[in-house]
Amino acid sequence: MTRIPRKSNWTILKFGGSSVSEAAHWQTIAHVVQQQKSTGFRPILVLSALKNVSNLLEALLHQSISGVHPIAIEHLKEMHQGLISHLKLPVDILLPQFKNLENICNEIHQSQQITPKNHAAVVSFGELFSTTIGLHFLNRQQISTDWVDARKILLSIQQADSWHHYTSAYCDFEYSPQLRSQLEQLNKVIITQGFIASDIDGNTVLLGREGSDTSAAYFGAKLNAAEVQIWTDVPGVFSANPKEISQAKQLPNLTYQQAHTMAQLGAKVLHPRALEPAMSNTIPIQVKCTHLPQNEGTRISVIDTTEVIDTTEAAKDSAQIIAITAEPQITWIRLPQTQKMDIDLLIEKVTAAGFDLILKSQKNKTCHLIFIYTNSDQAQLTDEALQQYLSIDNIKIKSALSLVSLINISNQGAWANKIVQFTQQFLPNGLLEALDFSSQGHLSLIVSNPNQLCQQLHFHLIENQLDNTFFGVNWKDLQN
Ligand code: ADP
Ligand code: ASP
Ligand code: MG
Repeated sequence: MTRIPRKSNWTILKFGGSSVSEAAHWQTIAHVVQQQKSTGFRPILVLSALKNVSNLLEALLHQSISGVHPIAIEHLKEMHQGLISHLKLPVDILLPQFKNLENICNEIHQSQQITPKNHAAVVSFGELFSTTIGLHFLNRQQISTDWVDARKILLSIQQADSWHHYTSAYCDFEYSPQLRSQLEQLNKVIITQGFIASDIDGNTVLLGREGSDTSAAYFGAKLNAAEVQIWTDVPGVFSANPKEISQAKQLPNLTYQQAHTMAQLGAKVLHPRALEPAMSNTIPIQVKCTHLPQNEGTRISVIDTTEVIDTTEAAKDSAQIIAITAEPQITWIRLPQTQKMDIDLLIEKVTAAGFDLILKSQKNKTCHLIFIYTNSDQAQLTDEALQQYLSIDNIKIKSALSLVSLINISNQGAWANKIVQFTQQFLPNGLLEALDFSSQGHLSLIVSNPNQLCQQLHFHLIENQLDNTFFGVNWKDLQN
């Protein structure tokens, strides 16, 4: 095993879709890079595609089948050209990449087939475009920058199922002294793509939608970076989605475990897969906001927030909820008798149909599996079709439900029962199921309509909480 040295002076700066889409934000990006350099750090920028471009590229696959792709490509060109002209860059910088994209789309039209391989190839262009724009902009700002192809650095692990192999890849993230010295020799700021990697045969693969956070964490781990910064459109992780609950409060500090739980259960601000590479190499993640760059945001690290918990017996059973998350559109599978069933095989089958497992609870022979549908390339299976496909007696399948989860600061005590009882009053149609994960610091509720419930629970359990140790500023106050 490679000996891991003390942290390097590399910092990974990941900018998401909304950050890279606006010309005004590019001044902030340049400023952040300069600041990092002037304090002795070596920044690597990991960029997402411009906002909505990955969705348009997914649609382009289908437009290529029907033959209307030239119009769709023209629209994509205009979108990028808008940013290019705002940034006053040469008009032709993306032409070779657009030519390549056009060729792939023509091939899809001729073959009348969308394969997972050409899905990944087409959708990867969003990040290739945005990083090319970024490269030209930073160099124009006298920030000497090199473009590095992420596919030359991130190597995916082979998966049996072709769809997941190409569109939901995992990569090795072991510390690499070779990579570190190779990048050090470039002696420049580095700009690279989020979301994309390559397999052992050199094919382009994707890390799953929203996967640029994961790319940043992979780069951080491989270089043993001093920090990974996730720059997005909100200043950190909040007690609820601030775009939906304006009184949501900033969480200045979270442990990796808390952040992972929140991300896994619907806090979209971070991809759940980004936590493991950072945690296993103790690389802090700082979540910051591109239009409020002075705000410190949220720090995710090993800092143990439970140190400030009241550990008296009386306090143990009372919940100290720090956040509420919601995952809409879940598919819930309930298996009443589990002793004869190979659950792992069942999960594999459902996953192969394009679903991702987000929760599994097994208690008293009853097993609950909660999936979200992630395969955008196929029509979603109806509950009946999924039932037929699995062909298991007494299985209960229900989709179009939501998962509302309450994140507790402590994972001890019998707080979950009390919260379930408290919650019933806000559910006119009742609670479908409560999954008690109190030993892992959360309680998850399966409901048909999450909106009112999240507002109510946030008001009663977070806004009215006397103990404000865990919270920072309100989202609403940041808007003024
Ligand atoms: P990016 O394009 O930068 O990756 P995302 O849209 O993926 O940005 O993530 C940022 C969004 O996450 C925010 O705009 C916010 O609506 C959403 N979000 C959901 N839950 C939370 C939460 N608990 N804290 C902060 N943001 C959240
Ligand atoms: N562009 C990709 C997506 O929209 C990856 C990312 O932005 O994280 O899913
Ligand atoms: Mg994101």
